[in-house]
Amino acid sequence: MVEFSSLIDPVYIATVVIFIIGLQRMSHPSTARSGIVWAGAAMLIATIVTFLTPGLSSFALMAIAIVIGGGLGYIAAKRVSMTDMPQMVAIYNGMGGGAAAGIAAVHLLGTTTAVTSVLAVVGGLIGAVSFSGSIIAFMKLQGWMRPRPITFTGQQFVNMAVLALAVACGVLLLGHPAWVPAAFQFYLPAFFLLSLGFGLLMALPIGGADMPVVISLFNALTGIAVGLDGFSFPTPNYAMVIAGIIVGAAGSLLTLLMARAMNRSIPNILFGAFGATEEETGTGVQGSMKPIEADDAAVMLAYSDTVIIVPGYGMAVAQAQQKVKELADLLESRDVGVKFAIHPVAGRMPGHMNVLLAEAGISYDRLYDRDEINQEFPDTDLVLVIGANDVVNPAAHRQGSPLYGMPVLDVEQAKNVIVLKRGAGKGFAGIENDLFYRDNTRMLYGDAKETIGLLIQALKKL
Ligand code: NDP
Repeated sequence: MVEFSSLIDPVYIATVVIFIIGLQRMSHPSTARSGIVWAGAAMLIATIVTFLTPGLSSFALMAIAIVIGGGLGYIAAKRVSMTDMPQMVAIYNGMGGGAAAGIAAVHLLGTTTAVTSVLAVVGGLIGAVSFSGSIIAFMKLQGWMRPRPITFTGQQFVNMAVLALAVACGVLLLGHPAWVPAAFQFYLPAFFLLSLGFGLLMALPIGGADMPVVISLFNALTGIAVGLDGFSFPTPNYAMVIAGIIVGAAGSLLTLLMARAMNRSIPNILFGAFGATEEETGTGVQGSMKPIEADDAAVMLAYSDTVIIVPGYGMAVAQAQQKVKELADLLESRDVGVKFAIHPVAGRMPGHMNVLLAEAGISYDRLYDRDEINQEFPDTDLVLVIGANDVVNPAAHRQGSPLYGMPVLDVEQAKNVIVLKRGAGKGFAGIENDLFYRDNTRMLYGDAKETIGLLIQALKKL
């Protein structure tokens, strides 16, 4: 007769393959949705098969936890708006880190070998840091805390001291295994409290604008913690090991790519307290913003040969993507060439604009990334900036600006620029944008969705 438990490892390996297929499908917007389903199915199968583990008990507790966790996750995911997605990712990731830390704590309390204890200590430290750091990230992005960096004198020294103490407690834990209760009872809580404290301190000085990068970093850390936990079982749990490694690797790569797109180094993001002092004054911004009415903007669009649309975070806020497609189609029906310029960090998460435009049915061959399109701006009749700010800020070319060096879309080089935004709101980096004051720029004020509706109406009348 087949022992059910002998099925666990083969099924885990199969789920890992499904997981990787899912991940691969997520790398392109057209298959991303199905990629999520593949990965979710792999998770479900791996969870079910875990119940075949011999000697498992407390089924009722596990069932209650799954129902509460799954229920809350389902409701939250159904309700969340696209613009709140980063904090949703942060809190889910934090839960992953917390679970990894919990598993490490259970391992440390049980009978472990020297090697598995070391793995559990490292996994526990990383998981706890990821948990508390992600909670701070969530609170900052959700507006439950000031998003600006929180700094104090000697901060980095304090941070390093807390980390060093956490590591010291971890090392002492290894020297005082569970069967030496008195010492162990002190070091274990101290180790986790200090690790949680370090995660908190690490996230406090990071400004809201950098948070998505940091969430991605915490995500990578959670993956590593889960992978290490997987090894610290008496017999390794391969699903945890491989899934942890994949998440750790994917998260690390994403963190690096996001940091590169913002022209920042990871140490600068972690320790630079970006946004603490950048209330720029004397930015060299001159002139005034020149408003335009929708009717006049429609005429300019209609008589252009080439139009480049640059979407940004404001398009996501306004949920204007359907209207944007309608406008683009209308212009093309009038023989205006329309292209979309997509900046890698436009919006609030990687691929944010691609996902929204794909949702509206705009085909990918109309989307161009920065390197493909930047040289086309000087020959473009009109650039329509829809709720983008930082990614089109020429301050990135100005030495001394906090944005200096960020690769931006050089839309100011176009013959005409029309910017759709509600008012004088700054971008996420909080830096003044002199594009809005240039002679060739006109400001079309209002919520992007409503404004594009007006443009469409006006175009239809022409
Ligand atoms: P920004 O956040 O710089 O600017 C958005 C603009 O949209 C604001 O100036 C706002 O002006 C306008 N806006 C807001 N709501 C509306 C609305 N309903 N209708 C019309 N306009 C609106 O956006 P970008 O996309 O240019 O830049 C993204 C920023 O996020 C960058 O700083 C990037 O580094 C950062 N970031 C992005 C990440 C990513 O992965 N995508 C990750 C980490 C950081 P007003 O209030 O006047 O309307």
